[in-house]
Amino acid sequence: MDPAGMNHQQICTHLGDQYNRFHGAVVPPIYQNSLFVYENFDSFIEAMKDEQHNYLYWRGNNPTVEIAEQKLAALEKGERCKLFSSGMAAISSAILTFVRSGDHILSVSNIYGPATKFFKYIEKFGINHTNIKSTNLEDIEKAITPSTKMIYLESPTTMTFKMVDLAKVAKLAKHYDLHTIIDNTWATPIFQNPLEFGIDIVVHSVSKYIGGHSDIVGGALITSTEIMDRIFYDEYQLLGGAMPPYEAWLLTRGLRTLPLRMKAHQESAFLVSKFLEQHQAVKKVNYPGLRSHPDFELGKTQMKGYSGLLSFELKNDTFEAVRNVLNSLKQFKIGVSWGGFESLALSPNYGHNTEALITSNISPGMIRISVGLEECSDLIDDLEKALV
Ligand SMILES: *Cc1c(COP(=O)(O)O)cnc(C)c1O
Repeated sequence: MDPAGMNHQQICTHLGDQYNRFHGAVVPPIYQNSLFVYENFDSFIEAMKDEQHNYLYWRGNNPTVEIAEQKLAALEKGERCKLFSSGMAAISSAILTFVRSGDHILSVSNIYGPATKFFKYIEKFGINHTNIKSTNLEDIEKAITPSTKMIYLESPTTMTFKMVDLAKVAKLAKHYDLHTIIDNTWATPIFQNPLEFGIDIVVHSVSKYIGGHSDIVGGALITSTEIMDRIFYDEYQLLGGAMPPYEAWLLTRGLRTLPLRMKAHQESAFLVSKFLEQHQAVKKVNYPGLRSHPDFELGKTQMKGYSGLLSFELKNDTFEAVRNVLNSLKQFKIGVSWGGFESLALSPNYGHNTEALITSNISPGMIRISVGLEECSDLIDDLEKALV
């Protein structure tokens, strides 16, 4: 099946079905095997010439994993996708593709914590990193040094949900001969396709919306054939963070409902954020889908919708106030991660890290919620009771 011309739902439900290959099975089977055997040594040698497109070993290629990869490549409008055993495996592999000792990486505004920790970790290999607090293009350009090789970003940004102009950043990067990586987990390929704006690599944690059921951990990397040809033989095969077939099978199952789930998350999150915006205990709501969001106009030019993760800031920004709200919530459970069927709440304020929050532009009164698939009125009720 040719993905060109297929819409999101067609890609998610039917791309890669290949009924005649799998005896008409409506759900493709799980190839739970580590290796593939060959009829003779000659056909094995032939297959080894192109490990990317033949089945030899699970750390390279597997038919079950490949179905999910085809779907994600088509959804992101990229040429190729590889799936990893976690979002961080995809992120670290993507980053290492573009840098060597002596190089410098620039990251933009608030990004996922472990990605920042990874930038610090690779300092021991002589790779330096600067994070700029701003999403502004001039500030990004000013921070580029002669040894900068790569710009790493999220849009919307982690916790604060500010947006970065993707087309302009990609253009700036091309001008200075830099590569660009975006973590597109928040928007999912349903709501934002950064490759179309000239970004080089899109990474996802599929542990969030793409899997959607809080039952798998995985990552994806989508890019051009040219870049993937390098990653497959180096970072993918050598760091070895390949996605297992059973996880890929669950991922394909999750993908079948991704467009429907994202529509529901978007509708509920909009209503929840409207409710929070008018609440007297709330100082500010950070949700890119709100007209009052400072980047709302930019969002309209590069996003097709908004997912269900947002933050709000209490007027009373003490740890006690934050803790009271979190402990009073019943529908929203306390836990890491997000993007599943269940609603979750958390605060970056742990009671002992106020200074670190302020230097990261995060209000100590911030609460982050992941709006799940429960009845929206139940979620608003829950917030109303907790926000006294
Ligand atoms: C969770 C997350 C990751 C890391 O993904 P894992 O699958 O947990 O390794 C990366 N980026 C963002 C934005 C995330 O929320």
